[in-house]
Amino acid sequence: MVKETGFYEMLGVKPSATPEELKKAYRKLALKYHPDKNPTEGDKFKQISQAYEVLSDPQKREVYDRGGEQAIKDGGNGGGGGGGFRSPMDIFDMFFGGGGRMHREKKGKNIVHQLTVSLEELYNGSTRKLAVQKNVICERCEGRGGRKGALEVCPSCRGTGVQMRLHQLGFGMVQQVSTMCGSCQGQGQRMSHRDRCKTCVGRKINRQKKILEVHIDKGMKDGQKIVFNGEGDQEPGLEPGDIIMVLDQREHGVFTRQGENLTMTMELQLVEALCGFQKPVQTLDNRTLMVTSHPGELIKPGDTKCVMNEGMPLYRRPFEKGRLVINFTVVFPEENFLPPNKLKELEHYLPGKDKPDEPDAMDDDLYIYADLEDCDPARERQHQRHIYYVEEDDDIYQGGGVQCQTS
Ligand SMILES: [Zn+2]
Ligand SMILES: [Zn+2]
Repeated sequence: MVKETGFYEMLGVKPSATPEELKKAYRKLALKYHPDKNPTEGDKFKQISQAYEVLSDPQKREVYDRGGEQAIKDGGNGGGGGGGFRSPMDIFDMFFGGGGRMHREKKGKNIVHQLTVSLEELYNGSTRKLAVQKNVICERCEGRGGRKGALEVCPSCRGTGVQMRLHQLGFGMVQQVSTMCGSCQGQGQRMSHRDRCKTCVGRKINRQKKILEVHIDKGMKDGQKIVFNGEGDQEPGLEPGDIIMVLDQREHGVFTRQGENLTMTMELQLVEALCGFQKPVQTLDNRTLMVTSHPGELIKPGDTKCVMNEGMPLYRRPFEKGRLVINFTVVFPEENFLPPNKLKELEHYLPGKDKPDEPDAMDDDLYIYADLEDCDPARERQHQRHIYYVEEDDDIYQGGGVQCQTS
């Protein structure tokens, strides 16, 4: 049992979630609430990151499960500091392959996009065109922001990018406060309006729409990243960042993917389960598989069978495929589907029925005949709850009948 579930709820998973489920949940939420896409939900982005940071680390997860959020805060390596969470951006960059902070300082920003794909696309491969907005260095001024040599040292801050202000504290005391220089935005240099590049208005970069062709290879997986090196945001003096596409597989109506295998459920009528069957299955590349039982084969409810080489193609080895795993359910006929005399006939063919004892050999008084009734689990629960309340708090039900209070 876990003490708190807050972090799990933040990611929308159960406390029993596997590392894969946690990753998937973080991936979807982090992309949705990233400040680039959802600038008004900054707090949520931070909370998701913190929850993931704790739950993705087996040790921290154990501490959290035992002692809740407070235990995580207390456990921040003992000394002062407190909190101990990493920056949400670092977590995001690590997860989506930004390469950590060291790397990021030399590179422009990565752009991460989610690309929703069907299971068919992952099976057959496909090419998708996607429009992406990104920053590019202004061509007209070559990223200088204006006419060559027009840059001058900012007179307000004398090139430091910082302005000092004296702040009166009263009683004759004065505090010196440093703030970013407003006239040069902390750059230390500025350019007169006349000299500014007319295309980028001195910003050195422009927004540009770029069409990317995304090749989805056979066998790619949900969550897999496709990286376009150097296609991310450009910034003067920095290596451009990357565009990272993260595949997000839509659920399929028939097949569920499990690694290289596909699983499906097949419903059989009782007669098919007993006497054999042929059933068509439409594959993801639109062939028709005729699933056929062997003569004499019998399928029990819950049986699992495989069709070799009809699973997912393997990534980069698309001629090899996993298995199609079929889980069977068996539908029994309706009540009274046969008149009693015909049932006797059927009984004759089916093995295993107990032979009734000789009627005169048994003493009726030794038996209690038990009728079968339908079990209603909901009714049973109500009954239990009733007993519970009566024991714990019997004045709630003074004189009243059995009521089900759920609120
Ligand atoms: Zn320009
Ligand atoms: Zn300045």
